[in-house]
This record gives sequence, C-alpha cells and structure tokens, in this order.
Amino acid sequence: MAYITLNKKHFFHNLDIIANKTKSKDKIALVLKDNAYGHGLLEIASMAQEYGITRVVVKSYEEAMKLEKMFEYILVLADSPKTKNDKIRYTINDINDINKFQTATKVELKVDTGMHRNGVSIEEFDTAIEMIKEKKLLLEAVFTHHRNADELTSEWFWQNKIFSQIKSKINGVKFHSCNSASLFRHSSFDEDMVRIGIAAYGCLEFSSAFDKVDLKPVLSLYAKKISSRSLKKDKALGYGASYTADTDCIVSNYDFGYGGGFLRICSNNYTNPNGEKLLGRISMDNSSFLSEVEEILIFDDAREIAKSAQTISYEVLTSLKCNLARKIV
Ligand SMILES: *Cc1c(COP(=O)(O)O)cnc(C)c1O
Repeated sequence: MAYITLNKKHFFHNLDIIANKTKSKDKIALVLKDNAYGHGLLEIASMAQEYGITRVVVKSYEEAMKLEKMFEYILVLADSPKTKNDKIRYTINDINDINKFQTATKVELKVDTGMHRNGVSIEEFDTAIEMIKEKKLLLEAVFTHHRNADELTSEWFWQNKIFSQIKSKINGVKFHSCNSASLFRHSSFDEDMVRIGIAAYGCLEFSSAFDKVDLKPVLSLYAKKISSRSLKKDKALGYGASYTADTDCIVSNYDFGYGGGFLRICSNNYTNPNGEKLLGRISMDNSSFLSEVEEILIFDDAREIAKSAQTISYEVLTSLKCNLARKIV
C-alpha cells in the first residue's frame, strides 16, 4: 500500500530554526489543523511533544480533545466548547459570538486588521472588550492574521501598524500575529507567540525577495508497484487513452491515485524527484510511471508537485487521506 514517511530529523531541524527566531520553544504554537497538514495528527503531535513543544493550534473541539493530554495550551480556531477543559482556548471570530460562550471560558479575540475573513473590526474592538468583561469570559490574548505575508508588498507593514494600535488599547493580555511567512519577515521578533504551520513541515513558499530559509520537507510519499508491462510504440495507456508511447517501453502501475490524494490535474504532467515520468491519467487508486521499481517515490517536497498541480503545498498536503499509513523515520 502507498505510504507516507515523516522525517523526524527534518522536523526537528525546522523547529530549531523557528525556535531560533522566536528565541524560545515556549513561544511556538504548532498548527496541527487538518490532520497536521496531512502529515498525521498524532504522529506530528508525538514528535512535537518529544521536541518540547507545549502549545498547539487546531480548528475544532474534536481535534483539541485528541491532544489535551499532550499539550499545556490548545487554541481552537473555529469551534465552541462542548465540555469544560482548562487547556483549551476558543477564538472569538465575530462580535456576535461573545454571548454564545459560557462565563469563565478561556477565549482569544481575533481582530481583523485587513484580511476581512474573520475577527472583530477595529471599530468593534472596544465594544467587544466590554462585552467580554460583562460576560466574564477569560480573555487571554488578542491576535490577528496576515493576508499577504509571503509576498513583498506593503500590506504586511500596514497590518502590523493597525495591530500595534490595537495593542496600545489594552493591557494584561498576550498578543500574536505571525504565521510562518510573517515570522520570517521579522528581523527581531518580540511578540508572545507564533502560530506556525507550513514552516515546521518544511514547505514554506516565500517570495524570492526575502532571505532564503533552510527548511527541510518532512513528508515523503511512496507507492507500491501493482504490475508492469511492455508498451509498444503507438499504444495508448490508461483512461481516455491520453498518453501514447513514442517508443517501446516498460511501464508500471502503482497503488496511489486521486482516491488517496494524488491531485488528478497532475495527469500527464509530472516527473518525480528521481526523473520518473507519470504517464496518462491518474485514476482512483492507480497511477502509471515510466519505471520498473517495486516502490516509487511520488514526492518528497510538496512544493515541487504543487507546481505541476498549479496549486500550493498546503493543498497537496491536506489532500492526503487519513487512511494512508504514516511512519516516522
Ligand atoms: C493555518 C493558520 C496559521 C498557520 O499558517 P502557516 O502559513 O501554515 O504558518 C496561522 N494562523 C491561523 C489563524 C491559521 O488559520
């Protein structure tokens, strides 16, 4: 069966680089949403715990509950509490949510500094703080999210400026604004926490205008051979006969297709890191390569295959199905 390997050395190397920027492991909140970006929630969580990570970020209450024995601090980005748990903090994404939380719930207030996706607006901020006090919620932090930190534009600067205005309005809470790209744009980081996803997984895509960061991809994907055959010149392969051999060749079929998360748009348009060419259309549980190896490396850097799929590494990774075996190496 197709399987994933997770390179612990690379993961720790990436965390070292991140901890070096934040100057403390305790300031790293590792983002584990969406099955830890397709890497496997518990596999990544156990390595993170071993490294000494104490803070994590997830999307849902269910994800948080799977991790509550492993970490001291869990931030839930978009869900509400179903039981009381002191380690879990919930995000206020909309001013109208404030009254939906029970008194004494630990919350963090998201502020919309320009992305216009979630969070209270600058104009709503003071009212939101009043409502949180009235409702007796435990406000621990105020945070924001950047819309364009990975590209060299002025937006990163003006979002920071708006966030510093917010910071000056309130005392006694923590502040955080950085995702991966934003952290690496700071020359001297001084906030209370970072929310790091893609950089920890080694697939940060960063404008060439910035200093290169030596991160190493953690995830590789392998598939096993189901069969090989010789394909004569002018014979076609796979659904829709979309590939025709230009010479006699040996082709093999491997057990990874779009059902496992191989983006079908890569059909006829992908060569793996060993130079083996994908031939014809990707089917549900099969893909054919110009190769005879028993086990084929599909990719070891999601950013590379993302180019063939005209997408980003985040989508390549989160497309990988939960039922693929994951081994830590
Ligand atoms: C997903 C997410 C992150 C992590 O972003 P990366 O680019 O993967 O580091 C940080 N903050 C919020 C609010 C997110 O939704």
